[in-house]
Amino acid sequence: MAKNTLHCSFCGRSRDEVKILIAGQDGHICENCVEHAREIIEQELLTRTEGTGSGFKLTVKKPIEIKRFLDEYIIGQDDAKKVLAVAVYNHYKRLQQKPAESDVDIEKSNIVMVGETGTGKTLLAKTIAKLLNVPFAIVDATVFTEAGYVGEDVESILTRLLQVCNYDVTAAERGIVYIDEIDKVARKGDNPSITRDVSGEGVQQGLLKLLEGTDVLVPPQGGRKHPEQKLIKINTQNILFICGGAFDGVDKLIARRVNTNAIGFNVNKDQQETARKNLLQFVNAQDLKHFGLIPELLGRLPVVTFLNPLDAETLRSILTEPKNSLIKQYQKLFEIEGIELSMDADVLDFMVAKAMEYKLGARGLRSICESILTDAMFELPSSKETKFHLTLEYAEKKFDKSKMSMLKVA
Ligand code: ADP
Repeated sequence: MAKNTLHCSFCGRSRDEVKILIAGQDGHICENCVEHAREIIEQELLTRTEGTGSGFKLTVKKPIEIKRFLDEYIIGQDDAKKVLAVAVYNHYKRLQQKPAESDVDIEKSNIVMVGETGTGKTLLAKTIAKLLNVPFAIVDATVFTEAGYVGEDVESILTRLLQVCNYDVTAAERGIVYIDEIDKVARKGDNPSITRDVSGEGVQQGLLKLLEGTDVLVPPQGGRKHPEQKLIKINTQNILFICGGAFDGVDKLIARRVNTNAIGFNVNKDQQETARKNLLQFVNAQDLKHFGLIPELLGRLPVVTFLNPLDAETLRSILTEPKNSLIKQYQKLFEIEGIELSMDADVLDFMVAKAMEYKLGARGLRSICESILTDAMFELPSSKETKFHLTLEYAEKKFDKSKMSMLKVA
């Protein structure tokens, strides 16, 4: 069989001896050689970067390279990608500067990302950490409370970071922390969306000290400080903090500030309409202050960027284009069973339409795929099928029967 004659052009192993054989223009490479090549690259890069004990070796990339890497995983969001790439690059450039080298002290470029939920904020932060090979922790601002209340101390953010890198303090001190839902700790202002009253401002005060860069005593197991726990000292000066939030209602504050009517006189109606639709692109620290973030905190989050809402076209691209897109993941899952998964183009349109209809954004695409494919994934492994073709009719039938179809938002 022609299939069996294929072999890895690097190690010579045949198709049967390897798990995966990736085709290139004139040859193939197997998973072992890819892994081996990765190790060689890492070794090479080590000579250019400093190493630490836990396997986290910072690899600094140029902004264009960072953006290019982000493009492989995240669709659109070009503004945010550029701003992030520059901020991250500058941050790590600052890290490499020797203290005595210059009188100019480059300040940290902590970042705030404003954008609806499910538009890729976490994904962006996570992907950057992956690229740089630094420890990365995600925390949710809503679990923190002012000292003295039930809940977690803000210090436990650093506990997470420590846990990720196996308590390697040096690595943790250069990590990235993503603080989600920062908008939920806004203080009560003229902000219409505030739902919780407890301690928002207190949490912001607590975060200040982490963000500005000081020595913080961290309980290694997290939670509240117990007297019997030996605390670990971490300096936060070189930890990059990226905050994200939906900031529901901030567009009204932006509108008030930019006074969109005034834009209108110089630009045509279409441009005016587009600008009005996505006011978030004009967001700045002043708007976030009006929203309820305290000025001191904003002072330590000098980079503000935004994410666009996802339209149908973007959702469709998200399904198929990123390196580990949902459809590629399902195809992989089926492939492991020896089944080739294919689908009609209108199935993708149907999934996107449902995600839009149910107002679920990109996060909903996964549940929609699950509701359509679960039965197939349940039955096919026990069958002898080698192909599964998904038609619109099948997708509609499965989706209508699923629990998800009952969750429609009015
Ligand atoms: P947020 O943090 O903004 O609420 P996430 O980053 O957690 O959103 O996004 C949820 C999921 O949606 C991601 O894991 C990813 O699969 C998908 N997603 C969202 N936006 C994008 C995008 N722009 N490109 C690719 N995938 C995306």
